[in-house]
Amino acid sequence: MVTRTFLGIPATAPAGVGHLRGEESFPVAARRALGDAQLRRNLGHATTTIRAKSAGVIAEVPDWQALRAAGSAIKTDVLARLPELLEQLEARVTAAGGVVHWAADANEANAIVVDLVRATGSDRVIKVKSMVTQEIGLNEALEAAGIAPVETDLAELIVQLGEDRPSHILVPAIHRNRAEIREIFLRAMPGVDPGLTDEPVVLAAAARRFLRQTFLSTSVAVSGANFAVAQTGTLAVVESEGNGRMCLTLPQTLITVMGVEKVVPTWRDLEVFLQLLPRASTGERMNPYTSMWTGVTPGDGPQAFHLVLLDNGRSAVLADEVGRQALHCIRCSACLNVCPVYERTGGHAYGSVYPGPIGAVLSPQLTGVADNASLPYASSLCGACYDACPVKINIPELLVHLRDQVPHPRGESAAMAAAAYAMDHPALYAAAQRAARLSRLTGRRGRGLPPPLSGWTASRDLPEAPAETFRQWWAKR
Ligand code: SF4
Repeated sequence: MVTRTFLGIPATAPAGVGHLRGEESFPVAARRALGDAQLRRNLGHATTTIRAKSAGVIAEVPDWQALRAAGSAIKTDVLARLPELLEQLEARVTAAGGVVHWAADANEANAIVVDLVRATGSDRVIKVKSMVTQEIGLNEALEAAGIAPVETDLAELIVQLGEDRPSHILVPAIHRNRAEIREIFLRAMPGVDPGLTDEPVVLAAAARRFLRQTFLSTSVAVSGANFAVAQTGTLAVVESEGNGRMCLTLPQTLITVMGVEKVVPTWRDLEVFLQLLPRASTGERMNPYTSMWTGVTPGDGPQAFHLVLLDNGRSAVLADEVGRQALHCIRCSACLNVCPVYERTGGHAYGSVYPGPIGAVLSPQLTGVADNASLPYASSLCGACYDACPVKINIPELLVHLRDQVPHPRGESAAMAAAAYAMDHPALYAAAQRAARLSRLTGRRGRGLPPPLSGWTASRDLPEAPAETFRQWWAKR
C-alpha cells in the first residue's frame, strides 16, 4: 500500500501501477535487444522513414516554433489549474448525458470498467488504441473477468494476436516485419485465408474482414482520449485507420479512460494541438480521422457514455515542479523516432508501456524512481528529444533531475561528496590535480580505472592528463 493524493485529497490506495514497472533493468534488456539484428533493421528503417516524413511537413509551417511555444504554455496553464478544469469537464460531460468516474489508480480504473461492461451483459469489447489502458493493464483485467478485449488498431491487433507487447507509442508493431505478421495472422486470426501472402495490401484486407465482423457484432467499446475540452465536455480521439471512428460510433456503450492531464481548457487550445500532433507524430498535415463527441445524442451513436478520469501517480508527478513537465506529453512519439538509444534497443528494453525518452522520464515518476531506477540512464543526453518535442518538454533536464533521485551506491555518493568538497576549496583542488597527474591512474590513453571505478572506463578511454594544469598555464601568461 502507498499513500497518494488525488487532486490534493490524501488517499491510501494500492500502488496499482499496471504495466509501468520494468521486470529487469534497462541495461540487461537492452543488451539482449542489441543482439537481435532483425529488430535493429526493422527499427532503423521505420524510424528513418517517419523522421523524414515528419521533418518535411514541419518545414511547411512557418510558425512551427511559435506553435510549440503555445502548446507548452497551454499545458503549463492546464497543470496550474487542473482541479478546476477537471471539475468543469465533469460538469459539462454530466450535463450532456455522460457519467464521470474518478479512479485513483490502475486497480480502481480496471474495476470500474469491468463493472460497467458486466452491467451491459456483453462478454466482449472493441478497443481503440490507447496508451492509458495499456498503462493500467486493462486487457488482462477484462480477460480475468471473462470479457474478451479486441484491439482494432491494425498494429495493436498484430501485437495482441502475437501475444506480444507494443514497442512504440505510435507504431506498436514496429519490431515486426511483414513475414512475421503473416505468420501471426495464420496462427491466430479467426477465419483467415490459409493462402494468405505477406503483401501489405493482402494482410490489411485480412485484418479488415476480421475487424468489420467484430465491429458489427460488439455492443461495448473502450477508448482512450487524446484531448478533452473542459469548455464543452467534448472528448477527442485522433487516428489514421478509421477503426477508432467505428468503435466510437457503432456500439451502444462507450467507455473512455483518460489520464487527468489530457484536459484542455477551450476549443482554441485544442486547435493548437491538432496542428502540432499529426505533423510531429505520423508526419501528416492533419489526422485522417478526428472524432469528437459530447455526452450522448439520442438516436445517434452510443446511448451510454462513461468517462473514467485516471490519476495513477499523476498527482505525485504534478507535485514535482521540475518533473511535472512530463505531463505535457501528447504522445506523438517524435522523441522516440530521433533517439539514438531507442533506435538501437527498441521499446521492449524499457520494460514499460511508455518507451523511449518520454518513457524514461514518465514511467519512473509514475511508479516512484526507485522502481524504475535504470530508466533515467537510458539516454546519452544528446538533446535530440528536446528539439523534436512539439510541446518543448526538456527531457534531458528531466533525466538529470531523476538521476539525482536514484539511490546511488554509498561509495559513489562518498566520492561525489569528496569531489564537491575539493572543488569548493581552491588549494585542495590544486593539490588534487597535482596528485592526479602524478598518479598511475591518469597515465596513458587507453588505460582503465581500477575497481570500483572500472565500469566508467569499460566503454571509454580515460583522458590523458595534460602536461600542465589550466591554472599553471594561466599563471605563466
Ligand atoms: S515527450 Fe514530446 S516528443 Fe515525446 S511523445 Fe511526448 S510530446 Fe511527443
